[in-house]
Amino acid sequence: MNVKIAIDVPLFQLFDYTWSLEELLQHPKVGDIVKVEFGKKMTAGIVIQIDEKVTYANKQIRNLKPVLEISPELKVTQQVINLCQFSSKYYLKPLGEILFSSLPSDWKKPNKWALLQKQILRDQEKKQNNKNSDVEEYSWNLNEEQNKSLEYLKTSSNKKKFELTLLKGITGSGKTAVYLTWLKDVLKDETAQCLILIPEINLTPQLEKIVKQVFINEEVTVLHSDITSAQRNIAWWKIEKGISRVILGTRLSIFAPAKKIKAIVIDEEHDYSYKQQDGLRYNARDLAIWRASELKVPILLTSATPSSETWQKVLQNKITLLTLNKKAKDGASLSKLSLINMGIARKNKKINSYGITEELNEVITRTKKNNKQTLIFINRRGYAPILHCKTCSWKSNCKKCSAWMVVHKKIDSNRKVLQCHHCGSNQYIPLNCPECGNQDLETLGMGTQKIEESLKDTYPEIDIIRIDSDSTKTKGSAEELFKKIHAGEPAIIIGTQMIIKGHDFQHIQSIIVIDVDKSLYSQDFRAVEKIFSQLVQVAGRAGRGQAADGANIYIQTEFIEHPMFKALAEHHYDEFITDIVKERKEYQLPPYSHQALIIAESKSEQSNNEVLQSLKQYLEQELSENIQISDPTPRVLQRLSGVDRNQILIESNDRIKLQKILEKALDYIEGIKKKSRSIKLQIDRDPLQF
Ligand code: ADP
Ligand code: ZN
Ligand code: ZN
Repeated sequence: MNVKIAIDVPLFQLFDYTWSLEELLQHPKVGDIVKVEFGKKMTAGIVIQIDEKVTYANKQIRNLKPVLEISPELKVTQQVINLCQFSSKYYLKPLGEILFSSLPSDWKKPNKWALLQKQILRDQEKKQNNKNSDVEEYSWNLNEEQNKSLEYLKTSSNKKKFELTLLKGITGSGKTAVYLTWLKDVLKDETAQCLILIPEINLTPQLEKIVKQVFINEEVTVLHSDITSAQRNIAWWKIEKGISRVILGTRLSIFAPAKKIKAIVIDEEHDYSYKQQDGLRYNARDLAIWRASELKVPILLTSATPSSETWQKVLQNKITLLTLNKKAKDGASLSKLSLINMGIARKNKKINSYGITEELNEVITRTKKNNKQTLIFINRRGYAPILHCKTCSWKSNCKKCSAWMVVHKKIDSNRKVLQCHHCGSNQYIPLNCPECGNQDLETLGMGTQKIEESLKDTYPEIDIIRIDSDSTKTKGSAEELFKKIHAGEPAIIIGTQMIIKGHDFQHIQSIIVIDVDKSLYSQDFRAVEKIFSQLVQVAGRAGRGQAADGANIYIQTEFIEHPMFKALAEHHYDEFITDIVKERKEYQLPPYSHQALIIAESKSEQSNNEVLQSLKQYLEQELSENIQISDPTPRVLQRLSGVDRNQILIESNDRIKLQKILEKALDYIEGIKKKSRSIKLQIDRDPLQF
């Protein structure tokens, strides 16, 4: 017998091996993870196809190598193989690479299999010894609108059909409560499993805790980047065996080997972290919808600010819309928006050297008097985005990237360093200008550290809590900081987007947003949609507590007339997203057109452009209507770690035509790969970054 095996190599082919029943003592099954020799190395492979009747010439068969061993505990399920096959076709990546990137890394190493078996045994023993004892089951008394949504969802899951539903509701309207109650109902079927996808966040302790309390008698598997590889190994095994029925995880969990999924939830479906930005550039939300439709099960998307992709489908009646309009908790209220006109503040000199207006200072003082907390949201870590020479206008550019090096203050000393957020390059700040020798170097713009410094001066008596990826680097430090916030002492909290997700803050009364303007007129057509959703999320952080009367959000801006602010102030999210979708239609942008990038990376911009230009010409030979191919352009971040990056954009309003032309492009790319190693070409389907 022969088997065709997928191996973790960048090649679009399967590999033939022989299967000896005498040696392996069992028949091959699709999905078996096996040990084989590939090249001169031992590696893992996955059985994709079994050839009972071998038709090769005898000589060839004699040259085939045998399968050496079968992994004892884990298989790849047929469902995951199907999903990976679809991904392979859609994202134009080799099946082997996709299958293996979906597996916990230790399962890829045959020499670890014995250890994995031991890990599993040990875990099972441990579990039997300590069943959870003192945690209480959690459930809600759902309100009327929550119940209505729940009833709809229950009917949907009883139909055992594919159905796409969107649960839209402001932060705190009780969406999580609705979907967890629904899944609880789905799991009454004793073999059923369910999958909850959540955005990539460093911290999900609150959600994790609630999910475990709701499903108190279930093994809840939590999958995110912070779990250990041992935990991941065991998790995969438990899911495959059906021991774990509730899977809560970030985007990679879409490849979880559950066999009995009966419902899927995509929490915060608009979140960009569902898209992987390198390697296999998949979008877990889109794959989840595909998987649900394959399985004929319902899938629920939730959001306060649905993505334009999803909202278009709502407008086209392809998605059922359920809405929650009220805050679920008594006393919780919507926050009120006030705009602070930076232009006027500047004219009246009511703005300090840190860019903070007098009005904001009044807000902070008032909030402190009320014994409440102020949250300052700024999506920029570090001290300042640029170091600048006043005399010759030299700026701190990174030598390896087309980006500025960001000024950071070291924690232990007051000494500042320059750091590139793209390649990680680091250096002490120069004492004088590298160009003209002048000592008059200044920082431009603001980061979290600079605001912290300024506020420490102005409010020495208030606690200032800074939350960004620098202040939360060490394990447990984020938990510490969040605990401090939840304790409720008056404080000023400075946070990046890390702060805006999943936290239920009870004591924040005022939210201040600075530095949004760059998003309002950005060349990225999704920038407004993105900042809008972030601001709605930020606003949702306040007004949560019982005594949250008068929760306010203040935004400093030069553009107070921008329609986004009106939509925010009036809570007219639907109209705003509808307008965005209309605009996309007018300009034939996604979701009305489908896009793919072909990205060339090498040490030379010129070679990139040459290859892309010739690829373009090659594709144009058969160009049909409704397809546009752009000329080569630099990527927004053109140089990264010394590598030049250029791209062409292929667009069509016809998915099938786009697929065809991308397959053609792939042929060309594979041809280049054989000829030259110095240029790397990649396809990014449905790109979110340009
Ligand atoms: P969302 O997911 O829409 O942000 P959550 O489901 O997290 O909202 O609910 C916000 C808060 O309100 C949570 O603390 C939750 O426990 C609470 N909550 C939800 N539904 C109810 C309800 N029916 N009665 C009381 N509290 C509720
Ligand atoms: Zn200078
Ligand atoms: Zn750099």
